[in-house]
Amino acid sequence: MTTIGVLALQGAFIEHEKALKALGAQTREVRLPEHLEGLDGLIIPGGESTTIGKLAAEYGLIEPLRTFAQSRPTWGTCAGMIFLAQRLGQYEQPLLSVMNIGVNRNAFGRQLNSFEADLDIKGLEGGPFHAVFIRAPVVTDVGDNVDVLATLPDRQVVAVQQNHLMATAFHPELTDDLRLHQYFLHLAQEHNG
Ligand code: GLN
Repeated sequence: MTTIGVLALQGAFIEHEKALKALGAQTREVRLPEHLEGLDGLIIPGGESTTIGKLAAEYGLIEPLRTFAQSRPTWGTCAGMIFLAQRLGQYEQPLLSVMNIGVNRNAFGRQLNSFEADLDIKGLEGGPFHAVFIRAPVVTDVGDNVDVLATLPDRQVVAVQQNHLMATAFHPELTDDLRLHQYFLHLAQEHNG
């Protein structure tokens, strides 16, 4: 059985666990370095990236999470995407810095705190994916080894993959569409199989 960890320091981790369980995967809440042992993959949820970073530093998780993400399937959603990124404009906060992307936090401004959009996602069959954005970041630059999976109609990049790493600016765990969780499960199974 595939076991996926969900970083459970803050944010929308329970919704990710529900989606994974609905797909038949086993889940484990990660709060301490030893919880990473034996996982097939890890999801870093949305929430507040500054809080997640601060708590991760307090619990001695930064280095263990970084080591995990360097070689094991890891998916960051929203704040999780920020936490995975190597480059972050004007903010100073703890990052894992494992994905070759630059991101801009709260990219859509105060007027547009949250919005929804139907996205065509590379590798997903069955039509557009209804994506919920909440004070979302955007990917501002993409390294050569990074694949763009989805953009908004104005071409802003909102989903990327770099080998075993994935990042989405929106919250797939807040809708009933399980296709992205399924995609990540396949990634984890292929990587470990
Ligand atoms: N705005 C949050 C941040 O900067 C991310 C929001 C979210 O995860 N929904 O960390």
